[in-house]
Amino acid sequence: MSVKGRTAIITGSNSGIGLGIAEEMARAGANVVLNSFTDSDEDHALARRIAEETGVQVRYIKADMSKPEECRALIEQAGACDILVNNAGIQHVAPIDEFPQDKWDAIIAINMNSAFHTTAAALPLMRKAGWGRIVNIASAHGLRASPYKAAYVTAKHGVVGMTKTVGLETAKEPITCNAVCPGYVLTPLVEAQIPDTARQYGISEDAAIEQVILAKQPSKDFVTVEQLAGTVLYLCSDAAAQVTGTTISVDGGWSAQ
Ligand code: NAD
Repeated sequence: MSVKGRTAIITGSNSGIGLGIAEEMARAGANVVLNSFTDSDEDHALARRIAEETGVQVRYIKADMSKPEECRALIEQAGACDILVNNAGIQHVAPIDEFPQDKWDAIIAINMNSAFHTTAAALPLMRKAGWGRIVNIASAHGLRASPYKAAYVTAKHGVVGMTKTVGLETAKEPITCNAVCPGYVLTPLVEAQIPDTARQYGISEDAAIEQVILAKQPSKDFVTVEQLAGTVLYLCSDAAAQVTGTTISVDGGWSAQ
C-alpha cells in the first residue's frame, strides 16, 4: 500500500526539510497537514500552492511545538494521522557554561518533547485506522556529538531513544517508528549557524563551512532535502514494514567514523 489517500502531518513544514517532505508526500498522493508556529498569509498560500500543484488536500494548521497542549491540538485538529513526521527543530550554538537557559529549554521542548506529545496523540488515531508510520527527523547529532551544541545533541539523542521505545511498543501492530539522521543540509537552520560557528572558532564564514560544518561529512557535500524526502517516503512504503525502532543515516559517511 502506498501513501496515496493517507493523511500526513509534518511538524515544522513551512520551510527547509519539512517543506520538502510535505511536497514529496503530496506528489505521492498523501493529504498533507503543514505546520509551524506562525499563522501568516504566506503559510496558507503555501498550502494552496501545493494543493493546486498536486491535486491532494493540503491544510496549514498553526501550532507551537514548544507548547505541549498545542502539539496535541495539532493532531486533534487534523482529525486523522496516518503518517506523523516529527521535524520541527531549532538550533543554538554556545559553550555549555554560557548556554542561555531559555535556549536550552526551547530546544529540548521543540526538538524532543514535541515528538512525545504528537506521538502520544497520534497513536490512537493510527490504531483506529489500522496503519501508521512515525518518522522522527533526528540528526547525525542524535548519534554523535559536537562541541557547543549541548541542547541539540541532548534532544536528538533523546529522540533516537524515544524512537527505539515506540518501535518496541508498536512492534506487533502495523505501525512503525523510525528516525532519519541527516548530516548537514543547507537549509535556513544551517545557514543561521554559520556566523555563530565562525565566531566560536574565530574563523571566516567560508572557513566555518569547510573546516567545521562539512569537516565531519566525508562526502564534503551537503545532503539535499530531496534525498531526505525520498528516505521518509521509503519508510512509509510496504518495503519498510519490518523496519522499526531504528535509525537511517543520510549523512555522507559522517556516522561511519
Ligand atoms: P528550518 O529552520 O528550515 O526548518 C525548521 C522548521 O521548524 C520551520 O518550518 C520552522 O517554522 C519550524 N519550527 C521552528 N520552531 C517551531 C515551533 N516552535 N513550532 C512549530 N514549528 C517550529 O530547518 P531544517 O534544517 O529544515 O530543520 C528541520 C529538522 O531537520 C530539524 O529538526 C533539524 O534539527 C533537522 N536537521 C537539520 C539538519 C540540517 O543540516 N539542516 C541536519 C540534521 C537534522
